[in-house]
Amino acid sequence: MSEARKTALPGVERAILPGATLGVMGGGQLGRMFVHAAQSLGYRTAVLDPDAASPAGLVSHHHIHADYLDADGLGRLVTLADAITTEFENVPAAALQILADQRPVAPAAAAVAICQDRAEEKAHFGHAGVPCAPCAVIRSEADLAGVADALLPGILKTARLGYDGKGQAGVATRAELAAAWLGMKHVPCVMEKRLPLELELSVIVARRADGQAVNFPVQQNLHRDGILAVTQVPAPDVSVELAQQAITRAHAIATELGYVGVLCVEFFVVRDAAGALALVANEMAPRPHNSGHYTIDACDQSQFELQVRTMAGLPLTTPRLHSPAVMLNLLGDLWFDGSVERTPAWEELLKLPGVHLHLYGKTSARPGRKMGHLNVTGTNAASVRATALQACALLGLAPY
Ligand code: ADP
Ligand code: MG
Repeated sequence: MSEARKTALPGVERAILPGATLGVMGGGQLGRMFVHAAQSLGYRTAVLDPDAASPAGLVSHHHIHADYLDADGLGRLVTLADAITTEFENVPAAALQILADQRPVAPAAAAVAICQDRAEEKAHFGHAGVPCAPCAVIRSEADLAGVADALLPGILKTARLGYDGKGQAGVATRAELAAAWLGMKHVPCVMEKRLPLELELSVIVARRADGQAVNFPVQQNLHRDGILAVTQVPAPDVSVELAQQAITRAHAIATELGYVGVLCVEFFVVRDAAGALALVANEMAPRPHNSGHYTIDACDQSQFELQVRTMAGLPLTTPRLHSPAVMLNLLGDLWFDGSVERTPAWEELLKLPGVHLHLYGKTSARPGRKMGHLNVTGTNAASVRATALQACALLGLAPY
């Protein structure tokens, strides 16, 4: 056992230093970018993921092919890793708890469990004093009958396992609501009022076990069909006051959770009764977030480096945005012209100044599948936008 393994809690006792092995539950693109950051800091890495071709497993020192609750796989991860994190919120909280009995785990199973459940997540926002959209939890026929008319038209969302707009249905009437809940096989759901969104924002906070916390600047996000399409930083349409409020609320949410790691909070911006812009918390992710991918190229530390620093108990310094940035998500749709497969115009794209192409090494493209992202940086927001729009035209993405 290395010296580092004796550390009980990252950040409280002794830091887990480069040379140690960091483990991650999940082998998707977020795990891959975590592995890149960890290795760049001199750590070895271990990924646990059932998929032999997982994007993170392909680049990690160790890849444990096992299901998330497989006792043997978890045991091997504990043997290999000095500290463990997760790259997605749907890893069973029970698995994180098993790991946490033997190794420092950040974020903690309890925090991840809250993020796994929309009803608990919204209750947590309330505990942190942060407003969210008017909503009702539906677990029974009585709950369904009790849904206030004021929540219509709304969006019915499964409490668990939804992502990228999946597990959601727009409902305009009570009959549609009942049909949608039946369609979701009567699993616990949250019924949310549909709000007229002016904007969508997110804030990424990184917090150590001793409570020290830093954040990236506010991100302005555009979603298409429930999937993030474009992130712009600095947020072009957000006042300094509103941005500060979003940052303050994201910190409050992390503090109330006693959170250790990287946390992203998504906000809606709506008009209040007086016509002023107001913030509403939407959801949170207990991990680096798609809206923070620009940090790899536009900040002096990426969100993945902060994931490493927080789990290893290394010092945190405030990350600095050194370039305005636009992030364009590259979905599998770009690999198709109608039903004919094609290769996106990478060579033309890479002729543009300040473009940074990130592909996740996924073996097959499917519409809606996240294949990679493109970061555009430059000396000013106008030139970054101009280049990003050229990139959109080359790739066949809708302009924003
Ligand atoms: P997911 O887990 O799929 O990201 P979200 O709850 O964030 O689920 O919903 C995805 C997107 O759908 C949001 O980013 C937003 O664009 C839209 N949306 C969700 N809830 C509402 C709402 N209450 N009112 C208006 N738009 C919403
Ligand atoms: Mg979301």
